[in-house]
Amino acid sequence: MLERFDDLSIWKQGDQRAPHKPLLILYALGRWQAGQKEVTFRQVEPDLTALLREFGPPRKSDHPEQPFWRLQRDGVWTVHAPPGLALKTGDDIPRIGELRSHDVRAEFAPDVQAALSSDPSLAASIASRILERHFPESLHPDILNAVGLTLETVSSKRKRDPAFRQRVLKAYEYRCAVCGFDVRLGTVSIALDAAHIRWHQAGGPESEDNGLALCVLHHKTFDLGAFTIREGVLLVSDQANGTAGFQEALLAYHGKPIRDAQHPHWRPDPKHLEWHGREVFKGGARHRE
Ligand SMILES: [Zn+2]
Repeated sequence: MLERFDDLSIWKQGDQRAPHKPLLILYALGRWQAGQKEVTFRQVEPDLTALLREFGPPRKSDHPEQPFWRLQRDGVWTVHAPPGLALKTGDDIPRIGELRSHDVRAEFAPDVQAALSSDPSLAASIASRILERHFPESLHPDILNAVGLTLETVSSKRKRDPAFRQRVLKAYEYRCAVCGFDVRLGTVSIALDAAHIRWHQAGGPESEDNGLALCVLHHKTFDLGAFTIREGVLLVSDQANGTAGFQEALLAYHGKPIRDAQHPHWRPDPKHLEWHGREVFKGGARHRE
C-alpha cells in the first residue's frame, strides 16, 4: 500500500514542482482522520487551491481539478462522476465547471479504505512518506496543520482543527500579537503562526480564546517559556537573557500589553494563560518598574 503512494505518477517538466497530488492526498488523509470518507469537488476546490498557493510553487493559475481527476489512475482514488461530462478542450479531463455543477465526489479506492481502517497507523505512515518525498522538513508542521492531520496514530484521542489557524490569525488581523510582524508573500502571511496557549498535547482546545497569532520567533520563545502573558500584559522570564536580539525581540515588550483580539470573545481565556504561566513559563517574571 505504501509503495502505491510512493509510486504516484507525478507530472514532471524539468525541475518544476508539482505538489498537486501529494497535497490532495494529505488533504484527503486529514479529512479521513476527521471521519469524512468522501469529499466533493466543491469542497476540495477552495481548500486545495489554498494549499497549492501556500505550499506549491508560484503559478499563474491553480488547477485543483487536475489531481482530483488524475489521481484515479494511480490506483488509490475513486471519483464518482456521471457519464458524459464535457471535457476540457484538447484534454482528457472534465471541465472545472462540470465538476462543480455535478457536485462530483471522490474518495480513496475501496482497498485503500480497507487498509486505512484495518491499520490505524497507515494514514500517518503514508503522510510522512509523502511529506518526506515532496516537502522540506521545515514545512512539514505547517502542512500538517493546514490539512488538519496529526502524525500520531489514531490512538491519539483528539484531532486538530484546520480552521484553528485561520480563525486565530483573523482574530489578530494577521499580525503577531507581540510585535505586529505581518510579512506577506503576495497575499499569504508567512512566518506567522496560530500558537496554542495551552498546548494541544495538554488538552488545549482549538478555539480563539486558546490561540495567539505569533510570528515564528515569538511562537518559539512563547512555547519555550521565555515569556508569558498575564492579564493581557507580556512578562519576560527572569531566566531569559542575551545581547543581540534580546532587547529588541523580548525585553522591549516586557510589561507592555499585547495586541488585543479584534473581538472581546477572542481574548485569551485566563484559564489557559494560567496554565501557560504554570506549565510552560520558565521561572519568575523579571522585575517591572
Ligand atoms: Zn512577533
